[in-house]
Amino acid sequence: MLHPPERGLKLLGVDARKVKDVIITHLHYDHVGNFGLFPSASFHLQDEEMAYATGRHMAQGFFNYAYEAGEVAAMVREVYKGRVRFHDGDAELAPGLSLHRIGGHTKGLQAVRVHTRIGWIVLASDAAHLYANMNETRPFPIVFDAGAMVEGYRRLRELADAPELIVPGHDPLVMRRYAPPRAGLRGIAVRLDRRPKL
Ligand SMILES: [Zn+2]
Repeated sequence: MLHPPERGLKLLGVDARKVKDVIITHLHYDHVGNFGLFPSASFHLQDEEMAYATGRHMAQGFFNYAYEAGEVAAMVREVYKGRVRFHDGDAELAPGLSLHRIGGHTKGLQAVRVHTRIGWIVLASDAAHLYANMNETRPFPIVFDAGAMVEGYRRLRELADAPELIVPGHDPLVMRRYAPPRAGLRGIAVRLDRRPKL
């Protein structure tokens, strides 16, 4: 890890301590591990994700190995403080910004749809780790429900204005296809509201 999230946000001019809303796509450690950096935020999470991460399937290593029990427990404590905003399926957070549950990878993963100057883009998170998962219908092996995962690829295409405007969660090609906000941020951050180079 070359850039911890707090520092990465600072480079973009965002003070993590002042952020009001954080969307947790799912509770896997690589998507939730730093939520303590956002002391002023509400956390947006699907009902199904919290139920999954605290329920019967977590007794199995196959399903729990990308979760950290301590982080899930810490998020439960945030629930008790009133800081978690639960959603059940599709939800509009603001005009041009909506959440969409796409099961498969986990039971309650949500993708994020954003309206930008190039149209509706979709941040798939782990609904598609790599471009090839969705484009070649090759499900990623960290999976709760392979059928829902494949159905999710179709749903992602429905939500985006064009297939190339779906941003997968873990594909290094994202950093090559999109331009950095400024020269000094090459390899660190990209602008998703400018057309990707294919
Ligand atoms: Zn994941």
